[in-house]
Amino acid sequence: MKGFAMLGIGKTGWIEKERPECGPLDAIVRPIAVSPCTSDVHTVWEGAIGERTDMILGHEAVGVVEEVGSLVKDFKVGDRVIVSAITPDWSSLEAQAGYAMHSGGMLAGWKFSNFKDGVFGEYFHVNDADGNLALLPEGMSLEAATMVCDMMPTGFHGAELADIQYGDDVCVIGIGPVGLMAVAASALKGAAKLMAVGSRANCAALAQEYGATDIINYKKGDIVEQVMDLTHGKGVDRIVIAGGNVDTMDQAIRMLKPGGTIGNVNYLGSGDYVRIPREEWGCGMSHKKIHCGLMPGGRLRSEKLAAMITAGRVDPGKLITHKFNGFENMEESLLLMKDKPADLIKPLVIL
Ligand code: NDP
Ligand code: ZN
Repeated sequence: MKGFAMLGIGKTGWIEKERPECGPLDAIVRPIAVSPCTSDVHTVWEGAIGERTDMILGHEAVGVVEEVGSLVKDFKVGDRVIVSAITPDWSSLEAQAGYAMHSGGMLAGWKFSNFKDGVFGEYFHVNDADGNLALLPEGMSLEAATMVCDMMPTGFHGAELADIQYGDDVCVIGIGPVGLMAVAASALKGAAKLMAVGSRANCAALAQEYGATDIINYKKGDIVEQVMDLTHGKGVDRIVIAGGNVDTMDQAIRMLKPGGTIGNVNYLGSGDYVRIPREEWGCGMSHKKIHCGLMPGGRLRSEKLAAMITAGRVDPGKLITHKFNGFENMEESLLLMKDKPADLIKPLVIL
């Protein structure tokens, strides 16, 4: 079968591979819609997880089940499914401890385009099919459904990690597709003032649609100063970090109230250390909390998020700004994610 792959750090191309084999608990899925992720960009062009050779990229796919293992109970050949980007081993001890995304080791629930071939192939393998697939709800658009694989669960996890409560003043740093979903989640969780940091006009407009009350442009001055101005010097209760770099945590600590919480879902592709400013950290006694996380994957979460879409609470399909038809467009869509032209939020490739 054909697949679009990372050939090595900084190199991508088409390769031929054997179709994956299906174990007793697994499924083989043929993708019908896929989307590249900023994480693919960190992986290929920043070498963020180290060298990978001839690894098929991609971890966001909706598809059709082509084969199921003998022990799979709830899915059958022909089912249209949403495949979670994170596919934990649900019987692992880490999963039993509540951290399924780290089953098998830190970040090891993230298998596609990390430890095994991803979804940009003609077929792909899903471990623990009953735990990691979700039926595509009748009538749901492929645009919205594909965002349930990664963008929506990650952005929503940012809001969970930040522990947003009714009436909190919130700042979401980064309003690419992940941050935009964090804005939507923060609004649903009851944020009062909801500040969103980004520079692209279309992202800012969608952030406002999803509930942002103020837009902060990090290219037009220090974001800490801008947040302090907007909060009359008080700072914010909660922060979601969904963009930026190793210096962003420093800024977040400075704009956070004592007792506040930072939820980081940003994937730091480069830099060795994350600094915490000592004084603004209350010399170690500020009760300022940092929670960071890989998004929880799995079927229940996909089903619950899909239910929110069906109920009309949120429409993640609005993230799709560029649509392609055909396998041959995977490369172009990934390059769009790398180059981030001003009109891009998220591309979708229909197969
Ligand atoms: P984008 O690159 O599309 O968005 C990043 C956002 O951060 C943009 O709004 C950008 O602004 C903004 N930004 C860039 N530099 C700065 C800065 N110095 N200060 C403040 N804001 C800045 O990324 P995605 O939304 O696709 O993904 C966000 C992150 O989440 C990525 O690192 C991705 O790898 C990660 N991720 C993590 C997952 C997890 O499970 N934890 C899962 C999926 C993704 P603009 O472009 O407008 O200038
Ligand atoms: Zn991703």
